[in-house]
Amino acid sequence: MKPRKVYSSVVKLAVHPSPTCPSCGSLLERIYTTRRKHVISLKGFLRVVYHVAVCKNESCPLREVPIKGPLVNLKHRQYGFDVIARVGWLRFQKEQTLEQIREYLRGYGIVVSKSVVRELSNLYMILISTRPEGEELALMRKRGVVLAIDGVQPEKGNETLYILRDCISGNTILARNLEVGDTEGIKSLIEEVLSLGIKVMGVVSDKQRSIVRAVKDLLPGVPHQYSQFHYLKNVAKPVSSEDQTLKKELKKRLRG
Ligand SMILES: [Zn+2]
Repeated sequence: MKPRKVYSSVVKLAVHPSPTCPSCGSLLERIYTTRRKHVISLKGFLRVVYHVAVCKNESCPLREVPIKGPLVNLKHRQYGFDVIARVGWLRFQKEQTLEQIREYLRGYGIVVSKSVVRELSNLYMILISTRPEGEELALMRKRGVVLAIDGVQPEKGNETLYILRDCISGNTILARNLEVGDTEGIKSLIEEVLSLGIKVMGVVSDKQRSIVRAVKDLLPGVPHQYSQFHYLKNVAKPVSSEDQTLKKELKKRLRG
C-alpha cells in the first residue's frame, strides 16, 4: 500500500506520553524513542516518533511498564486513523465507489490506486470488528491497560469513530461508530472493554465532558489524564491555498 508521496512538506511530530504515570501519578522517565514512522493523514504527511517512558515508583502496578502516548496510526500501518475513518465513512455510509473515494483522497494530496482504497476500506472493517483475543487478551487481563479513548469524526455533524487502545501495547481494543458521543454512548464502549475482563489502570483522553462522566461512573477511582494530542479529531479540509496556513498552525500546535 505504498502511495506516491505528493506532500510538499513533511510535518515532524513527536508524541509523548503524559508526563506523569497514569496509575500512580509519579513523574515518568523517558527510556527511549521509537524509530521514525511515516504516517499519511488527511492533514499531511507526518514523520512521527514516539517517546516511551516508564514509572519508577516501586509500589506502582505499572512500574517499569513502557508507556507510549496516543498513536496516530494503526499499529504497523502507514495511514492515520483519520484517513481510515474517512474512507470507511465514504464507502459504507455514503456508498461511494472506490473511484470516487480515490478522487476524494486526491483532494487531500493523497494519490493512491483503487486497490489501496479497497485495502483501506477493508482495514476500516477490520478495525471496527476488532476484539482482542488469545494471548493478547490474556495479557491485558493480567497486567491491565492504560486506556486511550479517541474520537475521529469523519465529517462535521456526523457520527464519530471512537477508538479505544492500550497505551502500553499500542493495541486497539475496540473501535465503534457512535452517532452521539454522549455519556451513555461512551459508557457502552467502556462496558464492552470491562466485559472482556480487562483491568483498566488509567485513562487518557481529551477529557471531553461525556468521557469524563462515563469514566467517573464506570471506573471510580481510576486516574484520568488529559492528552493534548488530538489534532486528528478535528475535521481536515482538502488541500487548498490555506494549506500552508493550516500546516503552520498545526506545527505550532504540535510544538506547543
Ligand atoms: Zn506509577
